[in-house]
Amino acid sequence: MHTDRLPKSETEPPETRRRAGPMIDLVQVVKTYATPSRSFTALHGVDLQIRAGEFIAVVGKSGSGKTTLLNLLAGIDRPTEGQIVVAETDLGRLSESDLAEWRGRRVGLVFQFFQLLPTLTVAENLMLPMDFAGIVPVARRRTRALELLDRVGIRDQADKLPVTLSGGQQQRAAIARALANDPPILLADEPTGNLDSATGAAVLELFASLNAEGRTIVVVTHERDIERYISRQVTLVDGRLAGDGAPEAGRWETEEARP
Ligand code: ADP
Ligand code: MG
Repeated sequence: MHTDRLPKSETEPPETRRRAGPMIDLVQVVKTYATPSRSFTALHGVDLQIRAGEFIAVVGKSGSGKTTLLNLLAGIDRPTEGQIVVAETDLGRLSESDLAEWRGRRVGLVFQFFQLLPTLTVAENLMLPMDFAGIVPVARRRTRALELLDRVGIRDQADKLPVTLSGGQQQRAAIARALANDPPILLADEPTGNLDSATGAAVLELFASLNAEGRTIVVVTHERDIERYISRQVTLVDGRLAGDGAPEAGRWETEEARP
């Protein structure tokens, strides 16, 4: 089935890795959170395959397991049972430090509240993941940060502190940061949840253009506007996959969805 690849073998051409299987492959994934008083199963045996280049929305009510799923794909958390293979790497086989290194190179993460470091300038926020991963040569890092800020339309904000930017600009900066090490996969957890709808629509359009460049994108969102861009919508209900297919208006039965 899947060949186990350690980070060292990532020097192979990307086409080789893509041809071998889906970009993201979840097999019978269970996630149970254990607290001292009780345990709670947030995902009940999820099977999900995502091909390279897909743009997918994950929808579902609050508490349905969307963030849990995204955190597992990102290697931020580990499943209780089951297997997760992302970009030909079986995440379960990686040590904590290898997993962190893998994430820094292969996955770009975008969050609802941007999570930019407040004491660093916008450009410095973008250079930090480059410093951690060590792929982009030191002398190129600032130039690359400026190019990425240009790509998301806020190059003029490069030397400002995040707090001086609007919400939409901060999310653009966070998306540029997610692209720092040129990852094949972008994962975004309610990236428009803290933006007004016009700004949110512009952010979704930015994701669509990044998808058109070939990146695989998984977005957790309540924004119906995303239907214009996505090929596939996955619905979670109480930690189970309850829908998977082309987006349909009827599937938007989430409590946070706009009327
Ligand atoms: P969503 O993102 O769809 O709102 P989550 O994945 O955040 O849902 O949470 C799914 C369920 O798992 C919720 O019932 C939540 O309370 C529970 N949960 C999430 N994280 C933890 C945790 N660290 N410990 C215990 N329960 C958790
Ligand atoms: Mg969530």
